[in-house]
Amino acid sequence: MLEIHPIKAFSDNYFWIFKQEGSSQACIVDPGDAAPVLNYLENNQLTLSAILLTHHHSDHIGGVNQLLSHFHVPVYGPESSSIPMVTNTLHEGDVIDACNTSFKVLEIPGHTLDHIAYYAETASNPVLFCGDTLFAGGCGRIFEGTPVMMYNSLQKLAALEPNTQFYCAHEYTLANLAFAQAVSPEDSVLQERIQREEEKRAKDIPTVPSNIGVELLTNPFLRCSEESISEKFLEHAQQPVEVFAAIREWKDRF
Ligand SMILES: [Zn+2]
Repeated sequence: MLEIHPIKAFSDNYFWIFKQEGSSQACIVDPGDAAPVLNYLENNQLTLSAILLTHHHSDHIGGVNQLLSHFHVPVYGPESSSIPMVTNTLHEGDVIDACNTSFKVLEIPGHTLDHIAYYAETASNPVLFCGDTLFAGGCGRIFEGTPVMMYNSLQKLAALEPNTQFYCAHEYTLANLAFAQAVSPEDSVLQERIQREEEKRAKDIPTVPSNIGVELLTNPFLRCSEESISEKFLEHAQQPVEVFAAIREWKDRF
């Protein structure tokens, strides 16, 4: 049984730490800062056995060197000149074992060119660590890639099993859903989700993970081929990828 826990950091980051039930060995995804990770390991009497990185932004890799001064562990990550501490460079289709779990690597460029995700089948739901690409209710900004790249990356994630639990790196959900509501003001499924997520946030419960099935119904960036959404952009956009580019551009200004 895989146990996955958020370590809250900065204003809205989640570093995901995971381990097998009963094990004292843990793996960390995207440790942007070492201190909260070291605290968590010490408080729970755990040692670190691997670091997994999704992309080169500093709030995802900033704690790696300090963690390596405490633990001599492999650092998995994409091929990227900005992440020299990666010891095991990964590409599409590679499979790694971390904390006795087998993860398949997906290349998902767009937010950055080097962005990858980690996908695992587990005893319960499939699990995905997707950094800053797919967010609950939204998607990451396109800093380095093109809208086509980002659209294709999101489509790759959208094609995973609907019960895939995905763990993104930020608590952006309510802001994302406020935007989703601007895109689809009459959508009752979306309204119900907003209410559910607001109740969680009122109790300081993370809205992450979400699952792919929920996103297919309520995340505007995965709904670009739905007529109710595309008709808003028909004058400017016809193809789903053009609808995506238009929605992303609107969100950048929202
Ligand atoms: Zn990022």
